Amino acid sequence: MKVSNMVGERFKDRPSYCVNDHHALLVKGGYIKQVSNGVYSLNPIMTKMVNNIESIIRKELEFVGAQEVVLSSFAPIDLLKESNREDEKAFKFTDRDNIEFANIKGAQELAIQLVRDSSNSYANYPFAIYQNKVEFIKGQKPSGGLINLKESIYNQMYSFHTSTESLDSKYEEYIKAYENIFKKCGLETYMVNDSYDNSSHKQVVLSDIGEDKFVICDSCAYKASFDKATGHVENSEKSEKRELELVVTPDVTTIAKLADFLAVDVKKLCKSVAYQKYTDGSFVVGFIRGDLDINQAKLTNLVGDELYTAELSEDSILSGGFIGPYQMPKEVEVYFDKSLMGIEDLVIGANQFDKHYIGFNVERDFGNVEYVDLADVRDDDICPICSNKTLKVKNGVEIACLSKSDDQMTKNMSMQYLDVDGNNKNPIMGLYKIDIIRLAAMVCEMNHDDYGPIWPMTIAPWKVQICCLRCDDEECRKYADELYNKLIESGVEVLYDDRKVRPGSMFSDADLFGCPLRVVVSPRNMKNSCVEIASRDKSYLNKPSLDEAFDDIIKFLSR
Ligand SMILES: [Zn+2]
Repeated sequence: MKVSNMVGERFKDRPSYCVNDHHALLVKGGYIKQVSNGVYSLNPIMTKMVNNIESIIRKELEFVGAQEVVLSSFAPIDLLKESNREDEKAFKFTDRDNIEFANIKGAQELAIQLVRDSSNSYANYPFAIYQNKVEFIKGQKPSGGLINLKESIYNQMYSFHTSTESLDSKYEEYIKAYENIFKKCGLETYMVNDSYDNSSHKQVVLSDIGEDKFVICDSCAYKASFDKATGHVENSEKSEKRELELVVTPDVTTIAKLADFLAVDVKKLCKSVAYQKYTDGSFVVGFIRGDLDINQAKLTNLVGDELYTAELSEDSILSGGFIGPYQMPKEVEVYFDKSLMGIEDLVIGANQFDKHYIGFNVERDFGNVEYVDLADVRDDDICPICSNKTLKVKNGVEIACLSKSDDQMTKNMSMQYLDVDGNNKNPIMGLYKIDIIRLAAMVCEMNHDDYGPIWPMTIAPWKVQICCLRCDDEECRKYADELYNKLIESGVEVLYDDRKVRPGSMFSDADLFGCPLRVVVSPRNMKNSCVEIASRDKSYLNKPSLDEAFDDIIKFLSR
């Protein structure tokens, strides 16, 4: 490729609307062009990178036996009715034959439709199919540069199994394949648990640009999504039981005011948070130590219903600001966080306006309770695995997810096979996804300097860039042309800057292209019978003779 005919426009200044580095560098370097907010087209340089990433993905997935397919871009509505996902459609249209089509997030219906007739014996299993597909996500709010786009390129994979053992064992292989993919792309990722039962995981790059939070243990391998993470706190200070006593606390409706008013440690207070269930509006209250916060997702999981913050009025059975476990109306569902375990005398709301109880003892005054995990994990909480106070809450970007599903979808869509005893069964599925644009964006985010991306050799759009500083100088031009042709003939992906531009602008473009190796051909070098070869990451610099330059490049590339 010659820069003189390259499609794509580069900019001198950092575009002001770009919120983070990868976004700024990819726009500035002419990799992408905005079509609409959150929608981009890719220029040839970005397309080459995506192709390189897809090749890595193909190689690793084929290695674990997955097979590539191309699924139809739209599904007939009847297919979505079979899976009961019709309501999730992004948009639909009716074609000239009066058939309604729709598109939907993920392609499991089309994957099942493709294989359900041919996979009717247990002997066909397990297997997995995958595709790379552009998908438009309706309702997506664009943010974080290229992190949350309305449209991205996804690798979607679906696996089919006759037993949970088969799913478990292939799942481990797919995790390994994913780890290999990201490592080959030059990205350090962490696999975090993303479920309460270890059935789904996310591959995450830790970065401050990430809007999601993850909990990582500094002492052991424990990693989980923030809403799925478990931490512990200690109640080490011994306290004595005392009499339950009602105290008047006028206008003291917050934890901070209460600790102040009663002059007690906030860790002796019981915080109450009231919610209502979506289905019937009934009340649910979570109790937790005063210095901690309730994680609504964890409570939702325990309750088994969606929750919203309780709307309390004067007529409500709960007295907002003074809610507590003692003499709580029977119809309210209550949950106690583990952080309250072992505190002998708590301060609690009295369920009466302007009043609290002091000296509350859960077991004596409420009864035996099953303590549950409701708390948001904080830095330095105790790890559930190694028991060290080394949990850390970090921001990150999810670039892939894997999940073990069940046979519900194949049941809904009547996909069956005959088992070894001749009985009809529905296969169970695994679902897997990689966001390829997000992956490329994060490689740039984690591998760049002020001037441009520093692409790893594996995904770089070109491995070598030749900068011919004086293309109007016959000697320079002739040498650069010959080197370019020789490299291409040897199968090296090479970019050749043959423009008549100032060296400064040629070098700043080269920084934006981010090719791992740069070869500078200039009249001054020619005079010394040499070229200058330097790596983009500045770890390699050499001035081989004109005759040795080709071999030096090949040697570097095969390191
Ligand atoms: Zn740990």
